[in-house]
Amino acid sequence: MAQNGPTCIRVRGARVHNLKNIDVDVPLGKLVGIAGVSGSGKSSLALGTLYAEGSRRYLEALSTYTRRRISQSSRADVDLVEYVPAALALRQRPAVPGVRSTFGTSTELLNGLRLLFSRVGSYTCPNGHRCPPTMNVALEKPIVCPTCGAEFYGRGAEELAFNSDGACPTCGGTGVMRLVDESALVPDETKTIDEGAVVVWGTLMWSLMKDVCREMGVRTNVPFNQLTPEEREIVFHGPAEKRHILYHNKGNDTATELDFTYYSAVATVENALAKAKTESAYRRIARFLREGPCPDCHGTRLSAAARDPLVRDINLAQATMMTLDQLAEWLPGVEGTLPAEVAPIAHQVVDSMAEPIARLRQLGLGYLSLDRASSTLSNGELQRVQLARAVRNRTTGVLYVLDEPSIGLHPANVEGLLGVVDDLMADGNSVVLVDHDVRVLRHADHIIEIGPGSGANGGTVIAQGTVGEVERDRNSRIAPFLSGERRIRVRDRATPDDVFASGRIHLETNQVHTVRPLSVDVPVGRLVAVTGVSGSGKTTLVLECLVPALRAAAAGETLPPTVAACDPAGVSRVELIDSTPIGANVRSTVATYSGVMDDLRRAFAKTPDAKERGLRAGDFSYNTGSLRCPTCDGTGTISLDVQFLPDVQITCPDCRGSRYADAAWDVRRTTGRGAAGERDGASLPQLMELTVDQALERLRGLRSVTRRLQVLSDIGLGYLTLGEATPELSGGEAQRLKLASQVGRDQVGALYVFDEPSIGLHPLDVEVLLGVLQGLVEHGATVIVIEHDLDMVSNSDYVIDLGPGGGEDGGRVVCTGTPEQVCACPESVTGRYLAEELG
Ligand code: ADP
Ligand code: ADP
Ligand code: ZN
Ligand code: ZN
Repeated sequence: MAQNGPTCIRVRGARVHNLKNIDVDVPLGKLVGIAGVSGSGKSSLALGTLYAEGSRRYLEALSTYTRRRISQSSRADVDLVEYVPAALALRQRPAVPGVRSTFGTSTELLNGLRLLFSRVGSYTCPNGHRCPPTMNVALEKPIVCPTCGAEFYGRGAEELAFNSDGACPTCGGTGVMRLVDESALVPDETKTIDEGAVVVWGTLMWSLMKDVCREMGVRTNVPFNQLTPEEREIVFHGPAEKRHILYHNKGNDTATELDFTYYSAVATVENALAKAKTESAYRRIARFLREGPCPDCHGTRLSAAARDPLVRDINLAQATMMTLDQLAEWLPGVEGTLPAEVAPIAHQVVDSMAEPIARLRQLGLGYLSLDRASSTLSNGELQRVQLARAVRNRTTGVLYVLDEPSIGLHPANVEGLLGVVDDLMADGNSVVLVDHDVRVLRHADHIIEIGPGSGANGGTVIAQGTVGEVERDRNSRIAPFLSGERRIRVRDRATPDDVFASGRIHLETNQVHTVRPLSVDVPVGRLVAVTGVSGSGKTTLVLECLVPALRAAAAGETLPPTVAACDPAGVSRVELIDSTPIGANVRSTVATYSGVMDDLRRAFAKTPDAKERGLRAGDFSYNTGSLRCPTCDGTGTISLDVQFLPDVQITCPDCRGSRYADAAWDVRRTTGRGAAGERDGASLPQLMELTVDQALERLRGLRSVTRRLQVLSDIGLGYLTLGEATPELSGGEAQRLKLASQVGRDQVGALYVFDEPSIGLHPLDVEVLLGVLQGLVEHGATVIVIEHDLDMVSNSDYVIDLGPGGGEDGGRVVCTGTPEQVCACPESVTGRYLAEELG
């Protein structure tokens, strides 16, 4: 940086969302942590202001066209932002990856492997020999087979790419196929073929096939389960041969002779699949299909030619099945297996892969294999892949905005994450991160704390400076947690003796992915934490085994294939409270999701204003009612078609985002207390602009509404406005809103599963959440949290710790017990960190 160059991004007069016209200096070239309780305005500053301005200006510089359009549509509400670099954001919820995206493609490591296999692999030459690579000095590239006369140049890296020339022709490089599910073809084997045992010959209008089948030598008048294996083989896979049949024309009692080609049951479905062009045609056959690995490439996505080259005795497909940890061990040995003249080429490729592999392992992703579909990675894993790529790109002078990068990260991996962030800064970039993990915040050069409360009670800078300065600042709310002086202890936990007092769910699982067969007991009516490093098997145990087993047991169905045995111990209702967005469309709001909207509509229909105008409850719906804004059809936004850019959503200019037509603002509801009440009557669109806490004050007369709103407030969501669109809520907010809808139900026999409920929560928010979970447990529910947050774990009654590592090194139960018992277990990595926490 030049000597007198800017040292800070200067933000003046920021008013994005709840920010209260704040001025703040954000140091450049430093790690800046933004802290504050949830809803305080951290994202409004980090993403809404810094990133929004940084990316907007970057785009502006690209072309005059985009400058005009973008500055019109998305300028942040701020007076001045000076010296902001081009910005990139790594978000909590990255875009959903496509079917051809794998861990290998998104980390670009697959490029390295392709290069390696294409350059130094041994090939089957045109003479059918397996030939080692040799160097053609004149061409300066390796060639194969000069000795057996079939001079041959090997293959280019492109030819080994499953998203290009190397794709398996059968599945198009996706590795999966819709295959015929033979078990669905004859659902009832007590029927004869004449009675319709082979359902595809009935439903797909192939009724003549019974007659052809008879001509093929199959008895069609005996129950299907009495057919010989030969007969069954003909039914399922018989050859497409022509047979002569008599077709009885029922209308006029005549018979026609026909030559008909036999389609086996499987061929019938395959034929229909090949012809299915419309979604409805596809739906008709879908029940005869299942998704399975492609039979030609066995799920490897690669053509036979692309699987031909061998390096160190394995092909590319086998190499991509290795985990990063295994690959890191295998790669250095490649050179030694090659002819001396091509070894340097391998050396170069292996060398170039070493650093990115090391970094991904540092981020705790060493248990992933390159062929793992990106769509099966968690949000935290995806964000860390993005982070590794950002470092690899060797940018300089860029502002990176990270949104809770510690999500899904065991305390043991947080140091690796911080190391990677340091690498970004060593290249001359700036990093702003929003996080709650005090170990992450302690690493920051500079902290900006927003608060003090949420929504309208937040939006100001309450403390800033180095970690030490913030720790000494009396206004700071994070200070006691940063210094370790304050710890969260909010519940009376069970003792080892009484933890199973209300019973135990017993579960025995089968091997799933890398997770070994496990036998675990879950105490009923307790708060239970499932812990372990990333990839140790937490999700597999809870979401792929326990939840489906309990649901099957409750419904009296057979156990899922992942589970060998399950005693549900009285659990009859399982609720999964995850952090996926609520409502895929723009029509769900806090008011509709929490159920207060229905009561409000009814209350408004009873007002004199409504009666005078002949309005009923239905008219007050912004989705379907007559009072909805006609311009945006009640969505509050309209989409602008900007050429060359993705559609831009803007606030509806007619209703200004309220979703209601002007007429709705004229219908007011008074509190019914005479003239004074009459004057301060509010319209429904006005109420939608209030926060939950404000509405609680305002609507005191409406018991059913305030009861629901109180739950939202108790759960720490009092700062949300009633009209806020639920798809825009953060993962943590969505999760807490779902939780709110469960409070007050009968909890006996209920089991709740939360996947990382501490996402987005300040330690003070964790206290609130623990209080709500405690309420569920007190009413008899069993609560299971998949967690890394040590405050959450140390407040649990019982811990099931998986590991010890991830992938092949994990998948076992390391220890179980109360937090103290886990601390005492020397093998438990979690226990080591928990011991520090429990002090
Ligand atoms: P934090 O990141 O600290 O959790 P946010 O910056 O996301 O907080 O939110 C601060 C306030 O701004 C909250 O009251 C929130 O409801 C509001 N808010 C967030 N996003 C939007 C939005 N897109 N439109 C309107 N208000 C919003
Ligand atoms: P955790 O939740 O503890 O991070 P997971 O249960 O997600 O761990 O993963 C356990 C193991 O199973 C890991 O080795 C992971 O790579 C593997 N795994 C998880 N999901 C899949 C999947 N859909 N396909 C293949 N392997 C998977
Ligand atoms: Zn294939
Ligand atoms: Zn509108």
